[in-house]
Amino acid sequence: MARLEFFGVRGSHPTPMVDNLKFGGNTSCVVLYSDADADGKFPVILDLGTGLVKFAASQPQDGSFRGTALLTHLHFDHIQGLPFFSPIDRKGARLLIYGPSEDGMPLEACLNTLIGSPYFPVVLADLSGDISIGEIGGSGTTLDQPGSPKVVPALVDHTNSTYGFRIEIDEKIIVYVPDHQAPLVGEAVKDSVRDLCAGADILIHDAQYTLDEFKAKSHWGHSTYEYALAVARSANVKSLAFFHHDPVRSDSDLAEIERRYQRDFGDASFSVFAAREGLRVKI
Ligand SMILES: [Zn+2]
Ligand SMILES: [Zn+2]
Repeated sequence: MARLEFFGVRGSHPTPMVDNLKFGGNTSCVVLYSDADADGKFPVILDLGTGLVKFAASQPQDGSFRGTALLTHLHFDHIQGLPFFSPIDRKGARLLIYGPSEDGMPLEACLNTLIGSPYFPVVLADLSGDISIGEIGGSGTTLDQPGSPKVVPALVDHTNSTYGFRIEIDEKIIVYVPDHQAPLVGEAVKDSVRDLCAGADILIHDAQYTLDEFKAKSHWGHSTYEYALAVARSANVKSLAFFHHDPVRSDSDLAEIERRYQRDFGDASFSVFAAREGLRVKI
């Protein structure tokens, strides 16, 4: 039985406001463990948004940290936690980051563009631990850690080179698609997306906009609640987590949205919920 915890569920930018504390204001970061890793020493980290800083506080600060990060793409809201991830600034600590290159620029060079002068006082190589970078290949990768999670990446429509991840772990399937451009018209789901999400025990999917908001922001790279549901339905998943909440969405907005879709889709073959910080799910 795999376990996951949401540390950041917000899209675009952090929203540290009183109105958001229940669902949380940190950007994308979800952490996954295999049941074979009972002590939680080998996390698989899905994206490195500001939620990563909160996750850091629960991790060893003595150089014993070991983990693998899967980076969907290089937008700020998915990498901004990395330079503040204290467990990796310790001698002996190790973090392996898999992610995409961008327009032929290697992932390491991309990260060092943001994490370096004049945008940040140090570069990744200045951190005391060992960060290694792996570029995402076209087929699956089996991670060398308890439970041997298998990661299958697939390119999805967004505004730049962006992956969704299908992670097979403890005979369960977790699919993570935080940023996904819905079709401008209709709800057709590409075969590649259906294959990525097929039969998932939990699908964590972009659900940034209402249908009304999408009319004005249809080309901004994101999905509506309705499109997230369309993907879940077409891929026959067991559970759908609305994710990458729009920064304008308050706790009461999200609670109402969650209630509405749970009511309207109560007889669907899958369950629906809105991801919130601190939520732990056993799969
Ligand atoms: Zn994003
Ligand atoms: Zn993005």
